[in-house]
Amino acid sequence: MSFIKRIKWPGWIVLILLVVVIISAIYQSIDIKSVIANNKKLKNTSITTVYNHNVSEFPGLKLQTKTEETKKYTLSISLPTTESEIVNTPIKKWIEHQKKEFMEEIKQNDDYLGNGDAAHLNIQVDTEKITDEIYSLLFTLYRYTGDANRLQTIKPFTVDMKQNKILRLNDILKLNDEASKEIQTLITEELKKDKDLNFDIMEDMFNKTLERLEDLKWTISKEDLTIYFDAKEISSGTVGVIKVEIPFEKLESYINDSRLMKEQEPKHEQDEEEKIEKGIKELDPNRKYIALTFDDGPSPKVTPRVLEVLKQYDAKATFFMLGNQVESYPTVAEQVAKAGHEIASHSNSHPDLTKLSNEAMKQEFYESSNKIEKATGKKPTLFRPPYGAYNDNVMNYANNNRYSIILWSVDSLDWKSRNASAVIDTVTRDVTNGSIVLLHDIHASTADALPQLLASLKNQGYQFITVSELLNLQKESGVGPHFGKVS
Ligand code: ZN
Repeated sequence: MSFIKRIKWPGWIVLILLVVVIISAIYQSIDIKSVIANNKKLKNTSITTVYNHNVSEFPGLKLQTKTEETKKYTLSISLPTTESEIVNTPIKKWIEHQKKEFMEEIKQNDDYLGNGDAAHLNIQVDTEKITDEIYSLLFTLYRYTGDANRLQTIKPFTVDMKQNKILRLNDILKLNDEASKEIQTLITEELKKDKDLNFDIMEDMFNKTLERLEDLKWTISKEDLTIYFDAKEISSGTVGVIKVEIPFEKLESYINDSRLMKEQEPKHEQDEEEKIEKGIKELDPNRKYIALTFDDGPSPKVTPRVLEVLKQYDAKATFFMLGNQVESYPTVAEQVAKAGHEIASHSNSHPDLTKLSNEAMKQEFYESSNKIEKATGKKPTLFRPPYGAYNDNVMNYANNNRYSIILWSVDSLDWKSRNASAVIDTVTRDVTNGSIVLLHDIHASTADALPQLLASLKNQGYQFITVSELLNLQKESGVGPHFGKVS
């Protein structure tokens, strides 16, 4: 008290200044100490590792971020973990491998690094919930190890949280020959559509990469299958990642995992929505129905005439089209579809499928299917083999690719007689409730016969429905073969 009292006001200032100086000196010395310590650390390239644990927004998935910093490099790695080591191990292994490669690169580029130029390894993960049970983990990796050494790549993992496994592409899609061809075609189409692509695709490299569908990098969402290429896989001297998205609906018939299907039953068990979409109305089982079928078209001369008569009688029919004909007359094919008739496939070029190699037989199916879908927007699910000729290979293929094989119970013999009244006589004689009637919309005589034929059948009480409607009425499904009811 007496000491303070004795100090006059300039003395107070001196005292305060003194305190400030002492305090700042203490702070500085701490700061200097830490700088010295840090410098020592950097000289020894000792590592500062920080882990951040984050709870993922998805049940069963934990996220952890590891960062390291030294004078020579920084790294930041996101590591997701599940409760299953079977799932975690391949992910961890991939990350460890990336880190190992990074460290080796650093050793090689030691001269460049450390003097203001540090290497980086950045591995981030995007997580997406595809269904309650399927998660997508998409890693993006960026690596820089000095000078021109840059790498950018991605690595997807699709995890089945229920079965505790990492899904492969053939768990998701039925990778049969048709699907593989289709996926390859879709990838090529999508990729070549991309006008922003600022480099040329090397066809050889691209085709080689495509051959191994199983090894492609992919992710799924509810909308798309996305395929990723490292640019250097398909072109020369380019860095980066190329992304190709294929709408899921284009792959619908190949989806192997029912959890990814749009809440719909397999094709053969049509639900209400699908029935409406296909125009299948509730049919009265006490009435008489037949399915008229027209093969070998579309023909620009005969098909429009057939359509005209069908319209007059409010009749729906099924057209078994040839891929090649559809390719030649796409607008006629479209006209048939727009009139509400069922569009089906009769192969691409009308060969006897039992005399073809397995590969050529399959090609007849999918080329026709592609051409028909392109022209009409409808992917056929009914197939009539030319000449009604089929064997086990044909049946297996049809079954695996969800086609129903449709034959007939009444042959109009229009192809043989080429005579309108003969056609009328044959059909009216042989027809019964539930018949599938074989006709051809390429012979003028068949179009000539139709007005009288339909009038006569209508008088007998028949209604004209599509093959799918008829099968549904007869509670038939699956690959078949289906003949309709034989009298
Ligand atoms: Zn035919």
